[in-house]
Parts: sequence; structure tokens; C-alpha cells
Amino acid sequence: MAITETGTDGTGTDGTGTDGTGTDGTVAAGAGQLLLAGGRIIDPSTQTDAIGDVLVGDGRIVAVGRGLTAQYPAATIRDCSGLAVTPGLMDLHVHVMAGLGDFCVEPDRVGVGMGVPVLIDGGTSGVATFDISRRAIIDHPATKPKVLAFIDPNQLYLATKDFICHKLTIANDMKNLDVDSLLDSLERNADVVIGLKARACHIGDTDFSPFLDAAQRAAGDKPVMVHLGRFPHTPVITPVALFKALRSGDIITHAFRGGGGMLDPNGKALPEFRDAVDRGVVLDVGHSGTDFRFREARRLIDQGYQPDTVSTDLNIFNIGGPVFSLAENMTKMFGLGLELVDVVAMATTNVARAIRRLDEYGSLAVGRSAEISVLRLRTDGPFAVSDGHETIDSPMAVEPVGCVRRGVWFDVEPTATYATVGKTWGTPPDDQDW
Ligand SMILES: [Zn+2]
Repeated sequence: MAITETGTDGTGTDGTGTDGTGTDGTVAAGAGQLLLAGGRIIDPSTQTDAIGDVLVGDGRIVAVGRGLTAQYPAATIRDCSGLAVTPGLMDLHVHVMAGLGDFCVEPDRVGVGMGVPVLIDGGTSGVATFDISRRAIIDHPATKPKVLAFIDPNQLYLATKDFICHKLTIANDMKNLDVDSLLDSLERNADVVIGLKARACHIGDTDFSPFLDAAQRAAGDKPVMVHLGRFPHTPVITPVALFKALRSGDIITHAFRGGGGMLDPNGKALPEFRDAVDRGVVLDVGHSGTDFRFREARRLIDQGYQPDTVSTDLNIFNIGGPVFSLAENMTKMFGLGLELVDVVAMATTNVARAIRRLDEYGSLAVGRSAEISVLRLRTDGPFAVSDGHETIDSPMAVEPVGCVRRGVWFDVEPTATYATVGKTWGTPPDDQDW
């Protein structure tokens, strides 16, 4: 898919050359810079919600404030009036190692094409195939978004349409674990591997997963992301055992799914779930085709547990609905009554904090990497949204306009929403017993 790219070195509004050099040879302030002017800056990291300008240059945020257009006349100006300007959206759980197996979507499409400059792959690859995945996607010069990754601790793990590593029962085979090799890989790829994605399979004891245990021991202070819910073919530990095993900073994805074992029969959060959240376990949406329910989300939100992060789990099965995009996920949160600044945080600051990269991403503070999203916050709804089972109305919709990735502007591509295309998928399996 073609993504429109506009350089930041365009001719300034005062007619100076592309390098900002004036006719007298002096360098104008703002040369080679991009200025997002007059937007509503919503930055949860600094508690900012105010009209202003953001200046970027050399891939970094140079200045944030009012009146920057006068101070930097040579910068390329993009009028953002009437739009929200946020830290670059970050999707904590996607599958974008396209070409590795048959489960992934293209990073450009779900990244900059949807106004999301930072993607975190949710453990598509194990150790043995990670380096080639890195070369093919993460480091590839044609890949436009920033791609980071959770790695599966097994030597051979590959997310595929038919769950091949579960079907062959190698996701729960101790011979597939090589902790030394895992540690080497974590060290070698420390710049892009931000954590481990463990499938909490067991080998007989339903309260203990040697794969989760190995992941946590290898992770050090990196987070371990786990699924709430089962896999076909390979048994996993009980939800209670899972909640007990998680450390502060570990991440539960699919945390708001139906039948996930976080609620008792009366709909009350289990003590083990509450304890996990109290000690700092992160609750991630990880929507996917069948792993998010408005009903469960309402019950947990009513008890004080709202999502920390609002990831999609985008893959070939759900990109055509009911997930569609990260923006659609954000729109769904408004349908649940959540506040704008909280929802922006769930897709920016909270994600950066969860992966321990808040010093680089998830903030518009001066000096940070220039990943920025520009969004239209539509209030001319209501906007119908679906979790795959239930349809509700949201009072506000997030419609990305474009994003900045390392200082470079990208327009979004047209993206479907439930409000525009309706139900596009078959009836999902009943997840009540999952
Ligand atoms: Zn996933």
C-alpha cells in the first residue's frame, strides 16, 4: 500500500530555500523543521490539554508552545487547527512480522497508514526466527513505523492461522526452551525487544507454567505479556494461577474478554485479579476478534478497573472487523464512558510506560523522538461500534488524519470503521467457556 510521505524540508512560508538558507546566506530559524500549528495538544505525560504548536526537527521534538510560527518562519507549517495533536499513537499488541507465517498484517498499513507511528509486535516470533524477522521488518529501510517486539521464549514459536506450534504441541514442549539462547537473543536485540510474550502452557501441573517461569527469569526488568484465555491444542494454567504468578509490570492482554476467569459467578473481580492489579500488573485490551467484551469491560470498569492500554491484537482475522484499527478501539472506550485524556493515555503514555520507553516515546516533551499523531475528534455522532458480539454507541470517534514518524509526516490511508461498513465478519465462537 502506498503511503504518502511528505518531507520536512519543504520550502518555508517565507520563500527561503529547502535548506532554510536565506538569500543573504544566513540560516533562518526553523530550517528543515516541521511545525504542527494551532492544534489541541493533548499530552497525558505532561497533563497538557491546550491549544498550541509543536516543532520538530532532526527527528526530535524541538519546541512546544504558542506563537512558534512567528519564531520559526522557515519551518514547514501544517495547520492543525480543529484537530488534536497527541504523542504518537502506540499499539501494544499487533502482529506485523509480515511474511513470517501467515497471520500478520503489513506494518505500514496498520502503522503510519492508520496514524500509528509506533507498533509493538505481540510475540509473533520465537528466538530462532527473531533475527530474520528483525532484518525483514524491524530494520528494513522500507518499513515506515517504528516496530518494537515482544519475543516468545521458545526457540521455535510462530503465530500462524492454524496455531501450528500448538497443534504440534511444541508450545508446551520443554525441549523447545533454551534459556541461554534466549538470553543471548535478548542481549543482541535489546534495542528492539521490549519484553517477552509467554504462552502460559503447562506440562501437567495446572498451577505452574515452565514457559512463563522461564520468560520471567530471563526478562529481568522487562515486562512479560501473557494471554488471558486458552489456546487450542495446548493446555494453559488456570486464571487464578496466572494472576498469582504475574509480577509488577507484567501485562495481561485480552484482560477484558468474556469468560476469562477474572470475574466470579456474580460478576465480581476475583481477589487474585485484584491483588495482581494492586501490585502493578498492567491491564491491556488486546481486542482481537473474540477477546474483548463490552459486558466484561463494563463490569470491571464499574469496580474500578479500566484498561491501562487499549491495544488491538491486529492480525489477518480481525483487521476487516471487528477490530479495524487502533483508532476504532479508542472510539469504543468512549462508548464505555471513559474520559478523553485517559483514552489518549491508553494509546500513548501508558504504552510507553508499560514497555519502559517513556524516555523516548509516549510524550511530546522537548527532546523526545518525534512521533506524533494528529487526530480529528468527531462529536457529530453517535458512532456505532462493535466488540464482535454487541453493538453500542460512542459519543465521540477518533479519526486519524496523519502522523509524524521520526520527524516525517505521513497522511493516513482510508480505513474502515464499524460505523461506515457495519458487520463484516461471521458469528464469532461463543467464548463463554473460554
Ligand atoms: Zn496476539
